[in-house]
Amino acid sequence: MFDKVLIANRGEIALRIQRACKELGIATVAVHSTADADAMHVRLADESVCIGPPSASESYLNIPALLAACEITGADAVHPGYGFLSENARFAEILEEHEITFIGPSSEHIRLMGDKIQAKETAKSLGIPVVPGSEGAVTTDEQAYKIAGEIGYPVLVKAAAGGGGRGMKVAHSEDRLSVALSTARSEAQAAFGDDALYIERYLAQPRHIEIQVLGDGRGNAIHLGERDCSLQRRHQKVWEEAPSPALNDEQRREIGETVAQAMRAMKYRGAGTVEFLYENGQFFFIEMNTRIQVEHPVTEMITGIDLIIEQIRIASGAPLTLAQEDIEFNGHAIECRINAENPTTFAPSPGKIRYFHPPGGLSVRVDSGVYAGYSIPPYYDSLIGKLIVHGRHRNECLMRLKRALSEFVIDGIETTIPLYAMLVSEPDIVDGLYDIHWLEKFLDEH
Ligand code: ADP
Repeated sequence: MFDKVLIANRGEIALRIQRACKELGIATVAVHSTADADAMHVRLADESVCIGPPSASESYLNIPALLAACEITGADAVHPGYGFLSENARFAEILEEHEITFIGPSSEHIRLMGDKIQAKETAKSLGIPVVPGSEGAVTTDEQAYKIAGEIGYPVLVKAAAGGGGRGMKVAHSEDRLSVALSTARSEAQAAFGDDALYIERYLAQPRHIEIQVLGDGRGNAIHLGERDCSLQRRHQKVWEEAPSPALNDEQRREIGETVAQAMRAMKYRGAGTVEFLYENGQFFFIEMNTRIQVEHPVTEMITGIDLIIEQIRIASGAPLTLAQEDIEFNGHAIECRINAENPTTFAPSPGKIRYFHPPGGLSVRVDSGVYAGYSIPPYYDSLIGKLIVHGRHRNECLMRLKRALSEFVIDGIETTIPLYAMLVSEPDIVDGLYDIHWLEKFLDEH
């Protein structure tokens, strides 16, 4: 096992990783920008190193500074969390070259899945169903018209290097497709430095259902069921739950086994998520994330398995100790992402938290990196915490969530808590009847 892990991240996930390290008896090193000197992840770490000025490109994305921090502190492994360098294959390679373990998959798998065109081809070759669309990249308008004509409008233009919903444009007709291609191309070039595009059928009313996997890189892999992340705004998840209200045990077993089998064939190492759109009883692969995800706690709550501890164990070279039969699903869990944003306009609301009172009680979990007196800096994303609630069944979970939200007080800044307080009593939410477009329609009407 490692002696010391450097956590190359900030906020709630940095703290979450620290907790796992502490439970394994591993010392932790926090890194931070000058804007984060007072952050909770810095205060609670065994050691901390300032790695640069506020801008992420000069701090949390600064590979030389992170390497120096490893060197100074003698860390023998790095956990990248999510975002920042977590899916940067070059970072994983550089660490390995310096004999520091990257807690994650092989750089080869990160690179493969980071290119969504290659990821789709790989998924298809491993027997995973994919969204119908172009084979490979689309380079000319004529090629795009031909493919769109074959699969039928509306179509979705997507960036091979895409992420966070950027570089994605819907086209409902041929004359719209040309505009969609050029805007997606420039957006992708600006955001990712890669303008490769592909096209797929735009599904009308799908749910977003993703499968959590763990593999040990030796051909053993299991799945930990699904998460339903259909409540989204601008293709970004806001509420996640497990199990999905739309699946039965048989469907769960079937898609889970298909994915686990593919991971065994790939000899995938670490935690990963295979994302699907689900419509009319059919699954369509969209992408694979080769890191821990924001919404991982809902899976932890229904399986009792600490996914970060498993990531660390696997990275230390241990074989998978869990077999598929060991995974049991108990009850229901829901996560709400608490953002420092106005709950109706979603405008960022950085600033000082005057008062912070998280909810408590049975089966209520708050993963957060903030505290009373803390000033949220304006430089990073607005996620300040997550409320995760478990119940023996979905109804108990919803009632508990409603109660927990009513206890949650964050004063001094605006947060998205009032939005969740509304959602939790909405009939469609209570009935589990929502697709990926439901929330945007609801927001338009309210
Ligand atoms: P990103 O990596 O940018 O998040 P994804 O491929 O994971 O992009 O897609 C994000 C979201 O965009 C999905 O959860 C879904 O809401 C929507 N989406 C993606 N592909 C399609 C599609 N073919 N049809 C309809 N919606 C889609």
